[in-house]
Amino acid sequence: MTTFKNLGLDPELLSALEKLGFEKPTPVQEKAIPALLETDNDLVALAQTGTGNTAAFGLPLLQKLEFTGFTEALVLAPTRELCMQITRDLETFAAFKPELKIVAVYGGASIRDQISLLNRGSQVVGATPGRLIDLLERKAVHLDQLRVLVLDEADEMLNMGFQEDIDTILSKSPSDRQSCLFSATMPPEVRRIAQRYMRNPAEISLAANTINEYIEHHYYVVKEKNRYEAV
Ligand code: AMP
Repeated sequence: MTTFKNLGLDPELLSALEKLGFEKPTPVQEKAIPALLETDNDLVALAQTGTGNTAAFGLPLLQKLEFTGFTEALVLAPTRELCMQITRDLETFAAFKPELKIVAVYGGASIRDQISLLNRGSQVVGATPGRLIDLLERKAVHLDQLRVLVLDEADEMLNMGFQEDIDTILSKSPSDRQSCLFSATMPPEVRRIAQRYMRNPAEISLAANTINEYIEHHYYVVKEKNRYEAV
């Protein structure tokens, strides 16, 4: 059986996973974690949402931090909720790295508060694309020392019209960064981002059309007029 320890994770991260009750890696974690830890190659992962993607990119990202004093890792996500969830998960995985600062920046919340958090320093930033562009224009965040960039739910980000923002963000970050792209589907627009901004990425694909075994499915037969109430 593959364990998190076999995948090459540090004792600090293993303790956090034990505390969380994660007993064994999910399939995407089993493939992505060693690929990201062992090399600085780019990675495209075709995996459904809810199958453990955050730990798949988050654990290697946390292990690779060098505490240079700059923002070293950026995770882009399509929505405020996902952005908050990712940063919360990363904080939980980094429970035994108390020196680590992770800041979440997203629209619909005070930009001033976010700027003051960024001013206190952050090794990891989780962001929605539009708010990040705003912060880049205000020079409140700097990507020039970025070492890892993650695009989570890339297909959703493009569906939501973030293509141009993503282009801007990717073109402003250092070309020698490690990039990872996670997506549930691979439409031509996502493929284009991988071709344009990633260097010969390794690809992993986890049967995108199968049902997510971590979600329980139930159904109830109801009259059509009652369906909203029933939901
Ligand atoms: P994610 O796809 O990252 O949003 O994860 C979906 C859910 O699965 C979250 O509630 C995680 O905490 C949980 N999870 C992720 N990886 C594991 C694992 N290896 N073992 C148990 N639960 C996990």
